[in-house]
Amino acid sequence: MAEPRVVIVGAGPAGVRAAETLAAAGLRPTIIDEGARPGGRIYQQPSEGAERSGNQVYGFDAAKAARLHAVLPALREGVDYRPQTLVWNIFEGRLDLLKPDGAMAQLGFDALLLATGATDLALPFPGWTLPGVFTLGGAQIALKTQGCAIGRRVVFLGAGPLLPLVAWQYLEAGGTVAAVLDATPFAAKLRGVPAMVSAPGTLAKGAYYLVQLRRAGVPSFSDVRRPRIEGDGHVESIRFEASGRAHTVACDAVGASFGLRSETQLADLAGCRFSFSARARQWLPVRTAAGRSSRTGIYLAGDGAGIGGADAAELAGERAALAVLEDLGRAVDVHRVATLEARLGRLDRFRRGLETAYPFASHLVEDLPDDTHVCRCEGIDAGTLRATVRDEDVREVNRLKALTRIGMGRCQGRMCGLAAAEVLAAARGEDVAAAGRLRGQPPIKPIPIVPEALE
Ligand SMILES: Cc1cc2nc3c(=O)[nH]c(=O)nc-3n(C[C@H](O)[C@H](O)[C@H](O)COP(=O)(O)OP(=O)(O)OC[C@H]3O[C@@H](n4cnc5c(N)ncnc54)[C@H](O)[C@@H]3O)c2cc1C
Repeated sequence: MAEPRVVIVGAGPAGVRAAETLAAAGLRPTIIDEGARPGGRIYQQPSEGAERSGNQVYGFDAAKAARLHAVLPALREGVDYRPQTLVWNIFEGRLDLLKPDGAMAQLGFDALLLATGATDLALPFPGWTLPGVFTLGGAQIALKTQGCAIGRRVVFLGAGPLLPLVAWQYLEAGGTVAAVLDATPFAAKLRGVPAMVSAPGTLAKGAYYLVQLRRAGVPSFSDVRRPRIEGDGHVESIRFEASGRAHTVACDAVGASFGLRSETQLADLAGCRFSFSARARQWLPVRTAAGRSSRTGIYLAGDGAGIGGADAAELAGERAALAVLEDLGRAVDVHRVATLEARLGRLDRFRRGLETAYPFASHLVEDLPDDTHVCRCEGIDAGTLRATVRDEDVREVNRLKALTRIGMGRCQGRMCGLAAAEVLAAARGEDVAAAGRLRGQPPIKPIPIVPEALE
């Protein structure tokens, strides 16, 4: 009997550990990633020619990064690893692929494990589309992969653990951090501590970054409101309010984002059921503790089905792979299953603490001026969205898309979809759950149209 074909999408911590577990059980999984080298976001590897030491790139996580990077090369022919390959659609049990040479292909599967990770949650505010503004993750990726900073005097603005981390990484790399602006109140950090004590090492790292920033004399503000980036064609300064006072900081680049959002489009196209997560303020594919989705043969692991962090992603990847094996009728180590689920439970408690420490910065949406672009691809501003909600009695975000074209451009709503739902909900005075979610549409990312022949 032919071996079942198990396909994993994503070679980050979740996907790599899943591949390792399946290979250890004697299967030869296919693992696909649009990146050139394994590692995902946290352990994204430097580009060729931009190599720096592990400590320089990953700091405290250098040893974990090295361990994860070693997995696929060690498995050699035991896995079918396909880098630089984008999965842009799932249709009738097959994946549509864009291959490294630009050719299209289809791939069938018996079991599919989606480990597609996350992106930054970008929220609009005045000036966020000026050249020189990056997301926090984008600022970090520039440093990790190219060894370069996004500017000479950088301000970091946001909400979430990436904020102090990226600011510290810039400082360590010799960059000038002009200010760190936290859009959430300091009191929230204190409220989050009791739950975060469940992962004391990670909590200590977070505290270390804050102390180092303070020691270096980096100006830091909490509960930052009404940020506005100013400049003539490029970033020159950022204005904001904190503790009831107005401030201006000169800078030539800004890294700004407000948490992470799960990459859920493939789960959507695979027909998985979604439910609203009040914690994540996002509609997420439903998954069991084992990583089974609502669809037989489709499994979910890591940040792509709910933000849990890199350690949780590794454990969830292994657990979901064990679920694949169980469902294929293979024997699995029940003690290992229990250990994985217990550790995932502890990390989930830490995650709750983080979410308390960095609540959603809803004031950004409430204070958003009408003339600020929400959708960059289609050039739709907040005023247009609000007027359409009001005039057309729009209750749900797909209707808003149909009427305004928000989310119809190149990013397919990956960048603006959550912000649009927030603006809609705030305009109606309703919970964001009521606004629904943009339906996934292929291609989930831009793909080239390759002509058959040139005439
Ligand atoms: C920009 C960024 C920077 C981050 N930096 C840190 C950090 O420094 N420290 C930290 O603790 N956490 C960080 N995080 C969070 C951390 O990355 C995650 O918790 C962790 O990497 C999750 O692992 P994962 O395997 O679930 O997903 P990821 O590591 O995100 O890996 C997902 C992989 O799937 C691939 N993929 C997704 N969709 C497709 C597709 N359609 N076709 C082909 N391939 C696809 C991606 O290329 C990626 O390699 C960061 C997150 C982001 C978005």
